[in-house]
Amino acid sequence: MEKYYAYPCEKCGDCCRHIDLLEEMKSFDRGDGVCKHLTADNLCEISSERPNLCNGEYLYKNFYSDMTVEEFHQIMSELCKDVRRWELEGLYKKISDAGRAKFGGDAEKFACIAGGGSLSGKI
Ligand code: SF4
Ligand code: SF4
Repeated sequence: MEKYYAYPCEKCGDCCRHIDLLEEMKSFDRGDGVCKHLTADNLCEISSERPNLCNGEYLYKNFYSDMTVEEFHQIMSELCKDVRRWELEGLYKKISDAGRAKFGGDAEKFACIAGGGSLSGKI
């Protein structure tokens, strides 16, 4: 397994705005699907204690270590584009079924594309 390095997140925060799609993250929902720990400038205010579902290094090491970090980040980049497009087009809810189908219902793998933030500048 390669040494992990940070994903070049653009800090749009969109991956932390629909956490109600993940049962495991519902206690973080401030009431409208947005994580209560997302700051006004789209950072995670509990970065060092964030859930595994929000931790790119954890996800890589536990589920994607058969690929290079670069390959993992490439997947993340494609998913970010989807997340941001869905947010813009108001289609975000569709990610739930699509994501679970793709990853076999595994919540932690699915987190990479469902918000639960992985990302928020901290992956
Ligand atoms: S990781 Fe999240 S916050 Fe960063 S660019 Fe992607 S969707 Fe936006
Ligand atoms: S990274 Fe996780 S805990 Fe942090 S703001 Fe995003 S959804 Fe919330």
